[in-house]
Amino acid sequence: MVEKILANLEKSNCATDNTFLQAVSEVLSSLEPIIKSDPRYEQFAILERLVTPDRIIQFKVQWLDDQNRVRINNGYRIQFNNALGPYKGGLRFHPSVTTGVLKFLAFEQIFKNSLTGLPLGGAKGGSDFDPKGKSDFEIMKFCHAFMRELHPYIGARVDVPAGDIGVGSREIGYLFGEYKHITRNYDGVLSGKPYAFGGSLMRPQATGYGAVYFAREMLFQELQESLEGKVCTVSGAGNVAIHTIEKLQQLGAIVVTCSDSDGTVYDPKGINLSIVRELKESGRRRSLSEYTQWVLEAVYTPKTEYPENAHAVWQIPCFAAFPCATQNELTFSDAQKLIQNGCVAVVEGANMPTLPDAIELLQQEGILFAPGKASNAGGVAVSEFEMSQNASMEKWDFDKVDRKLDELMRQIYKRVALTAKEYGVERNFVDGANIAAFKRVAEAMLLEGV
Ligand code: NDP
Repeated sequence: MVEKILANLEKSNCATDNTFLQAVSEVLSSLEPIIKSDPRYEQFAILERLVTPDRIIQFKVQWLDDQNRVRINNGYRIQFNNALGPYKGGLRFHPSVTTGVLKFLAFEQIFKNSLTGLPLGGAKGGSDFDPKGKSDFEIMKFCHAFMRELHPYIGARVDVPAGDIGVGSREIGYLFGEYKHITRNYDGVLSGKPYAFGGSLMRPQATGYGAVYFAREMLFQELQESLEGKVCTVSGAGNVAIHTIEKLQQLGAIVVTCSDSDGTVYDPKGINLSIVRELKESGRRRSLSEYTQWVLEAVYTPKTEYPENAHAVWQIPCFAAFPCATQNELTFSDAQKLIQNGCVAVVEGANMPTLPDAIELLQQEGILFAPGKASNAGGVAVSEFEMSQNASMEKWDFDKVDRKLDELMRQIYKRVALTAKEYGVERNFVDGANIAAFKRVAEAMLLEGV
């Protein structure tokens, strides 16, 4: 049955949708054992419906750059499944954005949101707009133009977008400003808003902190280990990576790497986060190559020096590795290197950063592998906390949000680990996450009818 669905999906999707097919294939292979356990799944075509997006919205975004030239980009919103609640998922602004990439991200989001136990459906959107090198004014004009096209399709109880690659609180602020301007409606239609007007404390930190909370719980429960004093490697230098590094350092770990699309920094004494922030968070994002001007012991490896293996982060020995940049960044040979170097855990902060054959190898070798749909769910969880605060006109303090996030990440770990055990695949957190998430969504779909 699973093979038939995959074959049909391959026929009906373009060749460029391979990341989507990769994501579906991983989920469906985990579900094979439970599909037969309940005849209603087949009778009500739950799998076929689950792999088909509710709707794909595509629009033209036209805006003027600082030289008053007309610029045109593609904009998208993919509303995949709202069985559990309003559509929810980030917006990505990056030149690599296509419907295929967004379909994979929206599909993953259904399962991630289900694992949180919160009432959220799955969606994703974005544009092939490249924010790099754009002035603040150009970013604002692009965001306003994007929202002019997107606003009819979203709403606090319909679809609540958030940030992702290239979209932080500055962009969410501009998007919200235009939404309010057009609709005159001050509701929680976006999450990740600046704190000054409706944002939640801790939303910027949530994904990274959540990944570390998940890692801490997993390491403690499975190996009776802690992160204190351990060498960790992190890839990326954006929102998720920065807050993963911050929380790891707060827990006493020594984080020795970070990376961007140009290369990798290896700082054996521990990454100096204030320098990374200075480079990446102040206005136009600058290259990490400048890091070594401040820290003389640090090594910078540009990607071009390693044409056959551009993944210098994973060459560095570590106790735990945190891929936090982008999809498919950790390959089979990276996994081999991590194993050789004695790594005990890989915890995904990004969405689907590890290739399927690399996951298989890590699992075979007994490395604890935390899939992003479980370990990076902290961001969407705090987005839901923001929605709750907006709806009740309340403001929660930092400690309250932090406590709730920590508790929620522990619950996700527990749900995933127990489900894996229940289905005879103990410590396979990929299968545990897929099965636990599927059961909740499928039940809602069955109860709601066709
Ligand atoms: P950001 O845009 O803040 O940062 C992305 C980082 O990854 C940047 O440092 C960027 O480099 C680097 N990067 C991008 N593409 C590549 C590449 N091909 N090779 C190496 N490095 C690359 O995004 P986020 O931190 O928000 O997102 C990172 C990941 O986490 C994504 O997979 C996203 O989907 C996922 N995620 C994000 C959530 C959130 O709350 N923001 C929630 C859950 C998941 P450069 O600086 O050069 O652009």
